[in-house]
Amino acid sequence: MWPMGGGRTLVAGAGVFIGGHLVTYLREKGDSIVAVDVKPLDDWYQVDDGADTKVLDLRELEACREAVDGCATVYNLAADMGGMGFIENNKAACMLSSLINTHLLLAARDTGAERYFFASSACVYNTTKQQDPDNHGLREGDAYPALPEDGYGWEKLFAERMCRHFAEDFGLTARVARYHNVYGPYGTWDGGREKAPAALCRKVAQAKLSGTHEIEIWGDGEQTRSFMYIDDCLYGTTTIMESDIDFPINLGSAEMVSINQLVDIIEDIAGVRVKRSYDLDAPKGVRGRSSDNTLIESELGWSPSISLRDGLEKTYAWIFDQIVARVPSHA
Ligand code: NAD
Repeated sequence: MWPMGGGRTLVAGAGVFIGGHLVTYLREKGDSIVAVDVKPLDDWYQVDDGADTKVLDLRELEACREAVDGCATVYNLAADMGGMGFIENNKAACMLSSLINTHLLLAARDTGAERYFFASSACVYNTTKQQDPDNHGLREGDAYPALPEDGYGWEKLFAERMCRHFAEDFGLTARVARYHNVYGPYGTWDGGREKAPAALCRKVAQAKLSGTHEIEIWGDGEQTRSFMYIDDCLYGTTTIMESDIDFPINLGSAEMVSINQLVDIIEDIAGVRVKRSYDLDAPKGVRGRSSDNTLIESELGWSPSISLRDGLEKTYAWIFDQIVARVPSHA
């Protein structure tokens, strides 16, 4: 029966968003954590003083061996990634994350780790099944025949299969969740790697603070997505890790909205109306994407359920505070 109760837990990619939250979440459950990221410690968004914190480049095998040493459990959330603006323009960098997963798997196998988690993505799904904004939810089988997001999606699909074959050939217990758009406080919100919810919260907050009351939207705003709040992601990740689910499974919200509807909600929260302009040449990704949660509901009797409105209220408030803190004249 797992967890066995011995050994530490490695969270790889702990310096910024999901990994940073996961460190605190697992520590509060009593786990002993090794938190690793390539970023210099000063650049980490979240540092948990109770964790054993290390700065390592996990593309290197030796660094992975050092990180995994003494760990019974490994969560791999480390990746060179970002929103559409980043992944469409940095395909090679995204694919180089395959070094991280490959070397972490080897280190986990060689040190006899008990369990391994890989954070995959909805970007593995066949893009031809995401051309209609009225997407009825992507099912796990929709990843094949394979035609994922170029670069980032191929790397995730390849990494999923590496996990599967390490389980089959070497007996490593591996779990894979396909995250659909995770958002919340402590996520990247500017600098080019931010994703749509954070970018739009920032744009609306800046439009309000500056008094311009104008924002730019990438695409025509009718592309659809579903967004999962961080708390659902943390519960789902650890529950999948502890489960017997030995195949990639969706971890995402089924509450689908268009980008224009997302902006409507943020405007309500901010108490402001903005004039929208549309950049039709900007990176915009697939036309329609949402998570079909039939499988996770049947396997776990649970699926992500924190409403977009509730999650965005917390996210907008956090991003607003970051902007004000950075530019005091906006206060
Ligand atoms: P993030 O960028 O906030 O976190 C990834 C972390 O990995 C960063 O802190 C980064 O510095 C670190 N990293 C990158 N290269 C590294 C290296 N060579 N060695 C060590 N650390 C390295 O992203 P996130 O949103 O927290 O995503 C976590 C995981 O979930 C990633 O694998 C991502 O692909 C996956 N995912 C996220 C989403 C989402 O919406 N946030 C959706 C699907 C999948």
